[in-house]
Amino acid sequence: MKKNNTFSLQEYNTFGVAASTPLFVEIKSILALQEKLKNEAFKDALILGGGSNILFLADLSKPVIKISIPGIRIINETEQIAVVSAGAGVVWHDLVMWCVANNLGGIENLSLIPGLVGAAPIQNIGAYGVELSDVFYDAVCINRKTGESRIFNAEDCDFGYRDSAFKNDLKDAYVVTAVRLALTKKNHNLKTNYGNVKETLAQMGITKPNIEDIAKAVVQIRTSKLPDPKKLGNAGSFFKNPIVPKGECARLLLQYPNLPHYHIDGNFDKIPAGWLIEQAGFKGLKKGKVGMHDKQALVLVNYGTLSGKLLWKHAKLVMEGVEKKFGISLEPEVNLLR
Ligand SMILES: Cc1cc2nc3c(=O)[nH]c(=O)nc-3n(C[C@H](O)[C@H](O)[C@H](O)COP(=O)(O)OP(=O)(O)OC[C@H]3O[C@@H](n4cnc5c(N)ncnc54)[C@H](O)[C@@H]3O)c2cc1C
Repeated sequence: MKKNNTFSLQEYNTFGVAASTPLFVEIKSILALQEKLKNEAFKDALILGGGSNILFLADLSKPVIKISIPGIRIINETEQIAVVSAGAGVVWHDLVMWCVANNLGGIENLSLIPGLVGAAPIQNIGAYGVELSDVFYDAVCINRKTGESRIFNAEDCDFGYRDSAFKNDLKDAYVVTAVRLALTKKNHNLKTNYGNVKETLAQMGITKPNIEDIAKAVVQIRTSKLPDPKKLGNAGSFFKNPIVPKGECARLLLQYPNLPHYHIDGNFDKIPAGWLIEQAGFKGLKKGKVGMHDKQALVLVNYGTLSGKLLWKHAKLVMEGVEKKFGISLEPEVNLLR
C-alpha cells in the first residue's frame, strides 16, 4: 500500500506493526534482482521474505526488495537421494508439502514454519529435532555488490543453532536466490523422538509412521501450541535458547534442581529460554497491548499495538527479568530493524 510517497510494510511483517519504506519492489527472477542491484539506490535495501522473523522498530529509510523467485524441481538424483532446488520465494511449508507428496524425506519435521525458502539458511531454521543444515545441499546466492552468482555449500554457510555465516561474516553481503536440499527417496530417517511427536502419532492411531504422518503430527502440534500470526501478531520464538558453560549450568542446578537442560557437548548445555521466562513470571503476562504468550512463554505477542518499539521494550523487560533471576542473558532470535 502506497501512502504519502512511502510504502506501508504492515502487511509484510507477521508482528503486524506499522513501518514504511520509501521504495518497495518485488522481484521474481535472478536477472531482475541483478538489474536492481546495479542501481545504487538498492545497494543497502532490506531483503524481505515472508517477514516472519523481523521486528520493525521504526520506518525504514532504505528500500525493500521482496524476494518472490518461484519454482521447485529435482535437479539431480541417485537411487537413494534426490536433490531438490527451490526458488527463494517459495513458501517454505509449500516446499515441505511438495516433498512429502513426492515421498522425499528430510524436512517433514519442519512443517508449518512460516516464511520463504530464501530465509531458511539465514538462521538455519529448525524444529522437532531437525535443522535445515541436516539436509542442506547448497544455496545459490547473488553478491549484492557485484551481482555475481556464487554457490555456498554447508561449510561456507557455517551453520549453527539458529545461526549461519549470513548472520555474521556474510551479513547483508548476499541474496539467497535458491536453496537445494538432499532428500531421501526411500529408507527415510524418521525423527519422532523430539517434543510430543511420538505421543501425537499415537493419538492419531499411527504405529508405523511415514513422512506424511510426521508432517501431519507436526502440523497438529504447532497449530495447537503456537499463535497464528494472522490472528495474533508474533514472530515465533523471540529469543534463542541460551547455551551456557556446563559450570554455570551446574551452579544454577544447585539453586533450581528442576532446571531443564540439554547436553550440547563436553563444555556447554542448552537451557530452554521458555522455562526461564516462565520462572521469571512473564509467561502469559500481558502488559497493555504486548506480552508473552500463555502457552508458549518464548513467543512475544502483539495484542494490538502498531509500535514495534513497544514490543521491543517488553522484550527488554523480559531479558532484564531473566538476567536478574538467573544471571543469564537472553539473545533475540528475531532480526531487529531500525
Ligand atoms: C508462528 C511462527 C513460528 C515459527 N517457528 C519457527 C520454528 O519452529 N523454527 C524456526 O527456525 N523459525 C521459526 N519461525 C521464524 C521464521 O518463520 C523463520 O525464521 C523463517 O525462516 C523466516 O522466513 P521469512 O521469509 O519470513 O524471513 P524474513 O522475516 O522476511 O527475513 C528474515 C531475515 O532473513 C533475511 N532474508 C530473507 N530472505 C532472504 C534472502 N532470500 N536472501 C538473503 N537474506 C534474506 C532478511 O533480510 C532478514 O534478515 C517462526 C515464526 C513464526 C511467526
